[in-house]
Amino acid sequence: MTETAQSILPGADKIAATYGPRPLTLVRGEGVRVWDDAGNSYLDFTGGVAVNSLGHCHPVIQKALADQAAQLIHVSNLFYSEPQCRLADKLVELIGPGAVFFCNSGTEANEALIKLARKAGAASGRFEIITATNSFHGRTYAGISATGQDKVKSGFEPLVPGFIHVPFNDLGAVESVWSDKTSAVLIEGIQGEGGIIPADPEYLIGLRKLTQERDGLLLWDGVQCGSFRCGDFQSYTTLLKGVEGGADFLPDAIAMAKSLGGGMPIGAMWMTKAYSDVLTSGSHGSTYGGNPLACSVALAVIHEVETQGLAENITAQGKYLIEQLSRYVGHGTIREVRGCGGLVGMELEADIDLADFREKLMRSGLLLAPAANHTLRWLPPLNVTRSEIQEGLDILEKYL
Ligand SMILES: *Cc1c(COP(=O)(O)O)cnc(C)c1O
Repeated sequence: MTETAQSILPGADKIAATYGPRPLTLVRGEGVRVWDDAGNSYLDFTGGVAVNSLGHCHPVIQKALADQAAQLIHVSNLFYSEPQCRLADKLVELIGPGAVFFCNSGTEANEALIKLARKAGAASGRFEIITATNSFHGRTYAGISATGQDKVKSGFEPLVPGFIHVPFNDLGAVESVWSDKTSAVLIEGIQGEGGIIPADPEYLIGLRKLTQERDGLLLWDGVQCGSFRCGDFQSYTTLLKGVEGGADFLPDAIAMAKSLGGGMPIGAMWMTKAYSDVLTSGSHGSTYGGNPLACSVALAVIHEVETQGLAENITAQGKYLIEQLSRYVGHGTIREVRGCGGLVGMELEADIDLADFREKLMRSGLLLAPAANHTLRWLPPLNVTRSEIQEGLDILEKYL
């Protein structure tokens, strides 16, 4: 590939500047590949930012969409629909006894976590939520207030009060700020936007113990690291494999989105039985949340993952990717490789220009997603093959 389309479509200049100018206009996708408007094809390891769990335009998703669109698209939550009931049932089966609140995005799922914790603590005057520096929890006001990165907050003050940020993977820091006002701790299992930083097993076990002892909630943001992206349905299962007490680990509430819908906008919050009645009738809601179309696609994605062994596949492909990338560490370009399954971060050496490096890879046909901490993310679909991973590695190798 020598040329990349630079055409600016009419209307592109009317799109809000929040994402800045974008390097490509994509017109078609199939599996792990996308095509731009000049006919160039790319290996897409951005996956719509950890969303496209089955790759682009998977037939199973097409069919679920078409069938459901012919049946019932939207009814609001004034009524039950079969897909929403079935998805709630499936999520409870995958996580544990409890209930599910449906919404449309990751930030809304986090908003629900935060409202759950606030309401659970209201009677005892507890409202503070401890979160981690370098975390990312979305773009609503509570989301940016919870997020531990200044760039999402700057200019939007005053923020929602009651969030305390302490370093990630530091149990002592959580303990030291815990007060009689604390209602919950909110963390990502693997910090995604922060640069693919996994939680330490001892930290997770310690947080679970601490929150239980002090009658607080452990809130889990599984928006990026969840929904099979790291192999298991939720990443704590992956992170705690073989760890003492790990098999019993369960947060009090979990936020999901991204890979859950495989490309259809959907968000969900699971909460354990003890908190299932906190958000009482009329206290929270969403017009589109849990609509039949999105729920049908999520069900189809989960079914495909379960029947095609995709959890095992992405675990194996991720392991191979990490092994291969690790060979390049310390040779001048890649500083560290982190992650698991389809959530792999490649931190570059400080003197490598990340934007420039990413653009070079793009011009060679490989799309990777940036993150904080000078990191590029590999976010392949769960059904990625060894040869597709190898193709990506071969493109990368030319620049190393
Ligand atoms: C992407 C992300 C969000 C926000 O999700 P949206 O669907 O963009 O609102 C929240 N938390 C984490 C960990 C994320 O990666």
